[in-house]
Amino acid sequence: MEIMWMTMEDVRKKQHAGVPVIVPFGTVEQHGSHLPLSTDTLQAYSIAVLAGSATGALVTPPVHYGQCSSTRNHPGTITISGDTLRALAVDIVQSLAGQGFAHIVLFSGHAGRIHMAALREAAERCVREEPGLKLAVICDLDLVKEVSADLLATPGDGHAGEIETSRMMHLYPEKVKEPPPEEYPSFPPGRVVPDPERYWPGGVWGNPQAADGEKGKLIVERSAEALARIVQSLIED
Ligand SMILES: [Zn+2]
Repeated sequence: MEIMWMTMEDVRKKQHAGVPVIVPFGTVEQHGSHLPLSTDTLQAYSIAVLAGSATGALVTPPVHYGQCSSTRNHPGTITISGDTLRALAVDIVQSLAGQGFAHIVLFSGHAGRIHMAALREAAERCVREEPGLKLAVICDLDLVKEVSADLLATPGDGHAGEIETSRMMHLYPEKVKEPPPEEYPSFPPGRVVPDPERYWPGGVWGNPQAADGEKGKLIVERSAEALARIVQSLIED
């Protein structure tokens, strides 16, 4: 069930009853010339809602902002720091735990390294401080690579490429524009630069040309099933 549509009385019935909660995390981030800035949020939320109906988990409203590094100067990206994200994740988990929810999955539609590290660090702090809390931190891209490898034609596809374009063609076909050509960033190894956009001007990491909506439907379904299995394992543990 989606918490955003529930009432206080709806939630009261779920408290202290072992009901799991999925918290979807997204970004406001450039996704090439063809996908909307909220792509990560929209995908994570859709998959979380499917996994929620399969398991009975509640789904919180998504966190629309995340930490973006290499896309931070592309037009439209609105990034928050790892510190802010960590603090936000800790606050959300502690608030849910205080409401009697002890099985929580932080599910991220964005795979950035600093972003994921902030979520993991938040989760580690929460399990240290809240005895009995069961927490998982899941990166959507890891799930896709695990369950949809046989569907994908593009090795190393990661951002606004085959995977995300396919899924958005399935979920929000009217919001997808003409897919641009294949592109991969060419960041200089190990360097931290003030202008990462210089090394991938189109903002695509993979091949949007290999995308199609039917493939996107399968990837969404398989991702949701994989997330549902993780939610289930948290309850059974
Ligand atoms: Zn994305």
